[in-house]
Amino acid sequence: MADRTDGARTATVIGGGLAGMLAVTALLGHVDAITVVERDRYPAGHAFRKGVPQARHLHLFLSGGQRALDALLPGTVAALTAAGARNLYLPRDLITRTPTGWQRRFDERRHPSLSVSRPVLDAVVRERALRAAAASPTRVEVLEATEVVGLTGDARRVTGIRVRSRDGGAEGELPAALVVDASGRGSRAPQWYAALGRTAPYEETVDTGIAYASCLYRQRDPAAAPDAGVNIPAWPECPRGAAFLPVEDGKWLLTLSGVRGDHPPTDVAELAGFSATVGDPYVHELLSRAEPVSAVHGFRDTCNRRRRFERPGAVPEGFLALGDAHCTFNPVYGQGMSVAALGALAVRTTLVDGGGLRPGFTAEAQRAAARAVDPAWLAAVGADRPYASADDAGAGLGERLSTWYVDRLAARAAIDPVVGAAFRDVVCLTAPPSRLIAPRIALRTVLLPRRPGLARPPAVVEPV
Ligand SMILES: Cc1cc2nc3c(=O)[nH]c(=O)nc-3n(C[C@H](O)[C@H](O)[C@H](O)COP(=O)(O)OP(=O)(O)OC[C@H]3O[C@@H](n4cnc5c(N)ncnc54)[C@H](O)[C@@H]3O)c2cc1C
Repeated sequence: MADRTDGARTATVIGGGLAGMLAVTALLGHVDAITVVERDRYPAGHAFRKGVPQARHLHLFLSGGQRALDALLPGTVAALTAAGARNLYLPRDLITRTPTGWQRRFDERRHPSLSVSRPVLDAVVRERALRAAAASPTRVEVLEATEVVGLTGDARRVTGIRVRSRDGGAEGELPAALVVDASGRGSRAPQWYAALGRTAPYEETVDTGIAYASCLYRQRDPAAAPDAGVNIPAWPECPRGAAFLPVEDGKWLLTLSGVRGDHPPTDVAELAGFSATVGDPYVHELLSRAEPVSAVHGFRDTCNRRRRFERPGAVPEGFLALGDAHCTFNPVYGQGMSVAALGALAVRTTLVDGGGLRPGFTAEAQRAAARAVDPAWLAAVGADRPYASADDAGAGLGERLSTWYVDRLAARAAIDPVVGAAFRDVVCLTAPPSRLIAPRIALRTVLLPRRPGLARPPAVVEPV
């Protein structure tokens, strides 16, 4: 691989997954050339690939993320739907069992959530991002089967990346004015920083120890398939969960989950048995009418982990981290892809508002990406504290108060259309968390009596 000698107004993107492709989109028109370096070779069609192992599991794209995705790449949500993605309105098309009972099924239609397998999602986004690139003045090249093995530069400034072809061959260097790390949850940025003589950015973790096991199903009688997806998350008294959702091609994806000591099995014969032990037997009943059509895949690295790249002086000039390389979430909240889209959009806004690539850009853009992470991070770590391991950073008074309040609010949201709408606005990342303490919501949450949800899965959709 030939070394490039001129990195002026060029960018390299480490990882050609979702965040990488959205980063490309954000940079179009603001740099002369972008090189995306992807360790995998992209498969033909909609197939799984090694570099995105979490792709085997349930992935919902929340409405807040969909808005960001369409702002970056207009028409992508429609393209995904055309490719078979199901856009499920919450709570009408995805019924949820909460610790206090089943959520009422309001016909609210504020929050469509895309349910689609990751290979389809990634392929559609990649195809549209590369098409947008072809129509822009920025030259975009994707180096497949090429691994980034380090950064070049010094403690003050990153000047490029070191790469190695996976098909053999010598290591090479790609100089760049901007290096975007979009290499996902396995990012080696802390080690790469160390090699440049810098300390790794401060890292916070809150780990519930939750593990997933997932399997695709086909309904034996498609005409009798349920008219809604089902979500039965774990809660402290019942640390096992199950979700069963329609995806493309008439298939349904089962994802079982369990916190430490309650991990789900990865043997197909044991899935139904585990599903009988979650907080409600409904998914177990549904599985008796469906048959597995794939192997079972497990996943254990589900920690909430945030690297504080945005802190003053944390990042050398010329380096930016986005997507899971920046922050990962417990997947039960379905936030990671949306935050990747919101982060890329924040980068584009920083470029547009500030007049393009300039000295100080990376620090500014990283702060903007961090602000895009904040709401999802607060929601995830607030909810996960009751399960967190002793090694994690301790909760302050503010966080403990917010856990108490959110618990009460979530119970109210299951039965109350006003509180429920505000709750969904926040969890779907379309409104800031402050919406949850608006006077009308706070009064209903604190003063109205705590009542149980529905005793049975709701068959009837209620008008609002
Ligand atoms: C079990 C599970 C379920 C989830 N469910 C949801 C959900 O319902 N909704 C949601 O929004 N999010 C969900 N997420 C989170 C979501 O998967 C991630 O947030 C999302 O994939 C982040 O995109 P990314 O591009 O940052 O990382 P990835 O999608 O992981 O892509 C990283 C890319 O970088 C490449 N790469 C890695 N290292 C190198 C290297 N050194 N050189 C070159 N290339 C490299 C990889 O091959 C890959 O292509 C879930 C996560 C898990 C673990």
